[in-house]
Amino acid sequence: MSDDCIFCSIVAGEIPSRTVYEDDDVLAFLDANPLAPGHTLVIPKAHHEHVQDMPNDLAADVFAVMQRLVDPVESAAGADGSTVAFNNGEVAGQEVPHTHGHIVPRFDDDGSRPIHSIFGERPDLDDDELDDIAASISERAE
Ligand code: 5GP
Ligand code: ZN
Repeated sequence: MSDDCIFCSIVAGEIPSRTVYEDDDVLAFLDANPLAPGHTLVIPKAHHEHVQDMPNDLAADVFAVMQRLVDPVESAAGADGSTVAFNNGEVAGQEVPHTHGHIVPRFDDDGSRPIHSIFGERPDLDDDELDDIAASISERAE
């Protein structure tokens, strides 16, 4: 648990939440300021700031709970689909520094757009630049 972390306080029961799923390691609850009815957050109970900070097995547990909740969230909200996403890091819009996955129900007429729409102009990368970045990522992923 981290002091001054709102999601750690929710895990500890010090701040109330509308819990929709809980097990030993993972908690899911409704977003307090939802982007759509049923907007759900899925968090590891242990404090980790970023997706990549979680141990592999915990990350797998968080994703498994997200996958498990997609159908219930969509059907409870009467949604046609959902946006399932993490804002990872302050620069990416992460406001609460305790990693959390969003499940946001989506509707035909919701006027919202795909994840691609949060980005501006696309970089114009030639084949060499694409090869370089692919090699650079793959070296680091070993
Ligand atoms: P972020 O921008 O960090 O990815 O998203 C943080 C989310 O947490 C926001 O959608 C915000 O509405 C939600 N949130 C912030 N504080 C609380 C809280 O105290 N309780 C709940 N249930 N959600 C919160
Ligand atoms: Zn925390």
